[in-house]
Amino acid sequence: MQQLLPILRRVLLFFKMNFLYNKIFLEHKANGHPERPERLLAFGDLEQADILTNVRNLHSQVRGGIENGEKYLNLVYNEEYIENIKNASAKEINLDADTYTNNKSYEVACYAVGAAIKAAKQNDFALIRPPGHHATQNKAMGFCLFNNIAIACKWLNERGKKVFVIDFDGHHGNGTQEIFYKIDKVLFLSIHQFPAYPGTGRVNEIGEGKGKYYTINIPAPPYTSDDLFVDILSKIIPVIREQYKPDVVAVSAGFDGHKDDPLLQLNLTLNSYHEIGKLLSRNFKNIFACLEGGYNIEVLPHCVSAFLMGINNEKSKLKFNEQRTMSAANVQREFESRIKDLRLRHDGFWDF
Ligand SMILES: [Zn+2]
Repeated sequence: MQQLLPILRRVLLFFKMNFLYNKIFLEHKANGHPERPERLLAFGDLEQADILTNVRNLHSQVRGGIENGEKYLNLVYNEEYIENIKNASAKEINLDADTYTNNKSYEVACYAVGAAIKAAKQNDFALIRPPGHHATQNKAMGFCLFNNIAIACKWLNERGKKVFVIDFDGHHGNGTQEIFYKIDKVLFLSIHQFPAYPGTGRVNEIGEGKGKYYTINIPAPPYTSDDLFVDILSKIIPVIREQYKPDVVAVSAGFDGHKDDPLLQLNLTLNSYHEIGKLLSRNFKNIFACLEGGYNIEVLPHCVSAFLMGINNEKSKLKFNEQRTMSAANVQREFESRIKDLRLRHDGFWDF
């Protein structure tokens, strides 16, 4: 019996969402930038699978074995774009005012892509940097060099899989939206603060041509809290399961919507991330995730853990024990009027 327990544990862990990590993700860095290696160092010694002592009850493992994903770049990017990023990195040139490179950035970003592909293969959480969801087909921006999740989605599409992308980072996933704007094999949903960087993500951005209605934007006013954020997703997600029937769910998991994040003014707590995790695991079988934003290094590991506990149906023993937040009346009025508009724009295509 004693020998059986570890075997049983391994078998059960196989079905859990685990972390994918490589310490190369620490080597992309620039002085004073919020998108910094400390974001991952905050998780503790990931090489030793020691994810912070206070989230030790999280049963997920840390898996290595990530390959350099350079060979997957051409699923989304042309040679010219790839060469530009490679050269910028070699010369340590900034790609825009927000988006730096150092001489390791190209290689690090390729490994992040490799981790995203591996996550898609085995339903894991790619704990990666740099993030990807702002990178469009021809522009690196918003700290992002290559769009990790978009590359993984293309890889899945090539294998005949239909993908639902849910992007709950506090910023709009403009890059992912743009890449899949005219196709229906990827349904892109983003919930984000609006107005905020990068200025896109209005309800009237719904896709074009074959992709019409396959982009869903939920622009949340500043100070939107747990109540509204989770409520709208709990209405839409079961509809997407029923109507779209995706083979795989790809999560752009950004945590800068947390109330203590320095970059945005959303008012979310760990409760949102835990509830979204539960919601997804109740509705879908194949789910993988890529880390996007989240810049408060003290809360980021707890946000990620809360999400994983939700996905893995683990009892939530969250360190901060944060109170679920409620939106003020004016925020609620604005949010509801935007949702009404969203439904009109989608013209009854989706039953939400
Ligand atoms: Zn963000």
